[in-house]
Amino acid sequence: MRPPILFPLFANVSALPGIGPRNAKLFEKLAGPHVVDLLWHLPTGLIDRRFAPKVMEAPEGAVCTLTLRIHKHEPPGTPRRPYKITASDDSGFISLVFFHAHTDWLRRALPEGETRVVSGRIERFAGRPQMTHPDHIGTLEELATLQAVEPVYPMTAGVTPKLLRKAVHAALERTPELPEWQDAALLQRRSWPPFRAALQAAHAPESDADLLPTAPARQRLAYDELLSNQLALMVIRARQRKQAGRSLKGEGRLRQALLRALPFRLTGAQNRSIAEIEAEMASPTRMLRLLQGDVGSGKTVVALFAMLNAIECGAQAALMAPTEILARQHHATIAPLAERIGLSVTLLTGREKGRARDAVLAGLADGSTQAIVGTHALFQEDVAFKDLGLAVIDEQHRFGVHQRLALAGKGQGTDVLVMTATPIPRTLALTVYGDMESSRLDEKPPGRKPIATRIVPLERLDEVIDAVTRALAAGAKIYWVCPLVEESEVSDLAAATERHALLAERFGTRVGLVHGKMKGADKDAVMQRFAQGDVDLLVATTVIEVGVDVPAATVMVIEHAERFGLAQMHQLRGRIGRGDKPASCLLLYAKPLGETAKARLAIMRETEDGFRIAEEDLRLRGAGELLGTRQSGLPEFRLADVAVHGDLLAVARDDARLVMERDAALGSPRGQALRVLLYLFERDAAIRLLQSG
Ligand code: ADP
Ligand code: MG
Repeated sequence: MRPPILFPLFANVSALPGIGPRNAKLFEKLAGPHVVDLLWHLPTGLIDRRFAPKVMEAPEGAVCTLTLRIHKHEPPGTPRRPYKITASDDSGFISLVFFHAHTDWLRRALPEGETRVVSGRIERFAGRPQMTHPDHIGTLEELATLQAVEPVYPMTAGVTPKLLRKAVHAALERTPELPEWQDAALLQRRSWPPFRAALQAAHAPESDADLLPTAPARQRLAYDELLSNQLALMVIRARQRKQAGRSLKGEGRLRQALLRALPFRLTGAQNRSIAEIEAEMASPTRMLRLLQGDVGSGKTVVALFAMLNAIECGAQAALMAPTEILARQHHATIAPLAERIGLSVTLLTGREKGRARDAVLAGLADGSTQAIVGTHALFQEDVAFKDLGLAVIDEQHRFGVHQRLALAGKGQGTDVLVMTATPIPRTLALTVYGDMESSRLDEKPPGRKPIATRIVPLERLDEVIDAVTRALAAGAKIYWVCPLVEESEVSDLAAATERHALLAERFGTRVGLVHGKMKGADKDAVMQRFAQGDVDLLVATTVIEVGVDVPAATVMVIEHAERFGLAQMHQLRGRIGRGDKPASCLLLYAKPLGETAKARLAIMRETEDGFRIAEEDLRLRGAGELLGTRQSGLPEFRLADVAVHGDLLAVARDDARLVMERDAALGSPRGQALRVLLYLFERDAAIRLLQSG
């Protein structure tokens, strides 16, 4: 149950004065459905209205607050001309100008012969000062409130700044004093205000410095959010640890046989990762470990060693991939290796049906199937394992927290190894996985040739096509990637179709097309022809990103590379250079190139190291944009920006760890306050676990 003290903040925004049902919809779109969401909607700018010069001293272009005597209303002769009001102070005259004015309202707001305060931007017209549509009009009594610094908020159509400011103000009014959940010494050391004061300060910036993420009030709020994130992860983690794990420590028979049978030697990074995984599997707690490495860094082989360890102990091991294609690919990598040591690896995807599927399920249930690779078909309800010791989950780009737990739930104390081909910057990994241990494959298997990456303006398309012609003549397989246009799949497809048509004119049936709108089987067929058949130039939308292994492909053209994120380009480029032939990547860009895009392309040319690229990506883009937050499963921060507040994240982790060591049940006074913090930031999953004891 949410603590009653927070009830006012979790009321619907329509509970605020001035917000009816229609506005509530707009506010919901802008900030969120609850009052608390408005608190998190921080200003991005400010308007300083403190400057109150005389009319004749008011500089053109400046925002000024003027105290004026209203002289004469001059309604326009024709409706298209503006309504003018002459006013003055003792220095001179100014015109107040209104288009499409409501005469009645103007007469009431600015009555002739009275003194009024107006605030707005000064213009000059025919040498005379004027102000078009003042932002504020008030009486002399209101001068003090008008002559202030006004926060400027991100807006949405239909909401006026005034209404939004009023709503935020009301939300702040409703915010109770909450018990302090932060460590007093930390607050003092950092000179951070209490929570409520920090919120108020963040919504009342006095200078540009107050808008910076490093302003004390903003830091405090960011830290609150980061602490809630870290604490929630640790609560969940502590629960996982509490569930009895098992010690999986095989005698090494299968692994030694595999080592002898492998057609290559393991890299240092693979050996290190295998040792880390084995040590954790051997411990009696449950393993939850992340294995990070670029495509082709040899994760699957590492996973196989972990699986063999479980199997040596008489348990079963499963590897789950996010797509059918990837599951088949993993199976194709693993099965032949396992066969060399007399182990058969079963496959289960959505395509296995009827009798075939029944047979697979029977093997899993009676334990005769020791190793299986599959898709989410693996954790459907009727799939039962005799004794699942290890679940390996290949997430590629997706962070599927739920799936991860669902598969692990198929066994008793099942160890979990999560593989990801999107190296996550260390700071970000912390927000997703908490202190989940991670192994990094930061070394490529030997013999891989570096990929020559060139950056070419789109206007030189002809030269690129000539180069493609030469490469095709030399027997190359080429990817040609067309970008996402305006985030819409339709235009996305149009660009690729158009490019396909142009290239097909030149190269005929050697050109294939694959895109996201195609049916699975059709896609597979085209990919198949590219991998083994007569298609040598494959035009694709970004569907190949999560894609297929065609080791023979050596050239990649990425069109409008300036529209791609670093991580995405890196993933795409990872599709080539997998064989022993030299590979090259052409990044075509349209001018003019912005600073960030320029920096991104330069990094692509400089390095192939996914870890380095991930860090640069975070630096250039900020965490929110990093992976297209919503589907990625990355936590969305409202107040913290991991790209800027990364150092605070580490502090929050240590702080949360200390709390868990001293007061894991959150029962102490600070613990109670921290519960409020968890509720405040809606870390529901963690709270439920606390509740259930
Ligand atoms: P990932 O899963 O990280 O994309 P894989 O495990 O599928 O990478 O490995 C990619 C290819 O490299 C596979 O064909 C695999 O057999 C091979 N490979 C893995 N490790 C090595 C190594 N140490 N030396 C040479 N080749 C390797
Ligand atoms: Mg692989």
